[in-house]
Amino acid sequence: VERTLSIIKPDATRRNLTGKINQKFEDAGLRIVAQKRIHLSPAQAGKFYEVHKDRPFYGELVEFMASEPVVVQVLEGENAIAKNREVMGATNPANADAGTIRKEFALSVGENSVHGSDAAETAKEEIAFFFSGLELV
Ligand code: ATP
Ligand code: MG
Repeated sequence: VERTLSIIKPDATRRNLTGKINQKFEDAGLRIVAQKRIHLSPAQAGKFYEVHKDRPFYGELVEFMASEPVVVQVLEGENAIAKNREVMGATNPANADAGTIRKEFALSVGENSVHGSDAAETAKEEIAFFFSGLELV
């Protein structure tokens, strides 16, 4: 089985959508094996999204991710990385398929409710960014 790092972003935690989003993960066969609510500092959000530091939306993205608490979680399942991205839908909700999290809940391309790792190597790094070995069973 595979694991991936998921973040329920501030636009979704603010609107009390954590349970509805988790239901979508579980319905897709993804198991929530670790989960916590944290409030990222701008420095922490900036480090997490460092890969995007030269993109025009970087400042806005970092400010948004540090604006209010997020729920960070580890999802486990067969092909968890790809499956999670399927359940999330396209980055821009306008392009997301019906039934996906972003289609149903995202407010805009920036405030798009969830993050999911995009590959095995980044999943490993992103899980280690938020969770210690003791928190993972
Ligand atoms: P994520 O990495 O959050 O799972 P993603 O892989 O679908 O999403 P990326 O291209 O990695 O999308 O972009 C990271 C995040 O940056 C997006 O989820 C979104 O919140 C924000 N973002 C991407 N493109 C734009 C944009 N054009 N304007 C504003 N914000 C954007
Ligand atoms: Mg990404």
